[in-house]
Amino acid sequence: RAKADGRGAYRLFEPSMDAGAQARRALELDLRHAWERGEFEVHYQPLVELSNRRIAGCEALVRWRHPSRGWISPLEFIPVAEETGLIVSLGEWVLNQACVEATAWPKGTRLAVNLSPVQFKSRSLGSSVVTALAKSGLPASRLELEVTEMVLLQDSDLTLATMTQLRQLGVRLSLDDFGTGYSSLSYLRKYPFEKIKIDSSFVKDIGHDAGSAAIVRAVASLGRDLGMSILVEGIETTEQFERVKAEGCTEGQGYLFGRPVPSHEIREVLRGDAQRAKLVA
Ligand code: C2E
Ligand code: MG
Ligand code: MG
Ligand code: MG
Repeated sequence: RAKADGRGAYRLFEPSMDAGAQARRALELDLRHAWERGEFEVHYQPLVELSNRRIAGCEALVRWRHPSRGWISPLEFIPVAEETGLIVSLGEWVLNQACVEATAWPKGTRLAVNLSPVQFKSRSLGSSVVTALAKSGLPASRLELEVTEMVLLQDSDLTLATMTQLRQLGVRLSLDDFGTGYSSLSYLRKYPFEKIKIDSSFVKDIGHDAGSAAIVRAVASLGRDLGMSILVEGIETTEQFERVKAEGCTEGQGYLFGRPVPSHEIREVLRGDAQRAKLVA
């Protein structure tokens, strides 16, 4: 909160703040207005079956069009939204928006939505999901919720109870950005995940780094034994695609298959995919 300075005027920025802190404070204020002005949008990116390159689902990715700065990456504003608590209402809005959108997609196409650890702590998550499904009419079996290891770090009874509740609704859970955080194999046994998403950092140099390739292979094999799907994020080249497929991964996501696009465009992409499948059949 800005404090009154010596002359009685209010300042948004303390003179002691460095440029980074000031930029952050500005972002925080802008974010609050953004919510009121409706500057957020949801884009969608295909999740592809590696065996036949068909689209199994799409991931909802939030976008913010700042009035003067243009598009701002969620990597920049999600952490701020988490600190201010705005993520709870923003996350709920994304979920509702995306569920409605997904009902317009070909039957069976799944929807993946990211959840923040803060939403898990809010207690209202279970009922928000129930409401979003009921209002949109999207079957629970078509919804995948992505959580990162940061959610599991909280490792509370509440986290496990919420995840169990979501599973009982028929919703699927994916472990996002696998390998970047505090990956613990015990998480895979303790929590009811159906999918592991291997972080893009492992695919980047899979062609020339034996270590990355070995990790992808090991996670794919583990996933197979545990009956989970293994998706690889950040696939940009045909070489990477062939390689992760050969290592036993089941799904992929990346610019090679399609970038995140606005809702009207993803509908076209999905229509094209269904059309191609008919031609092949
Ligand atoms: P994520 O969930 O791991 O999403 C995948 C990110 O990788 C997206 O970044 C996507 O645009 C990017 N990506 C996909 N394919 C490629 C590729 O081939 N190459 C490269 N370089 N990047 C690729 P994006 O949209 O900037 O989102 C970043 C992160 O922000 C997400 O990572 C997720 O953690 C978070 N996020 C986005 N939307 C939401 C949301 O609605 N709620 C929450 N809580 N977090 C969100
Ligand atoms: Mg994700
Ligand atoms: Mg991810
Ligand atoms: Mg990632």
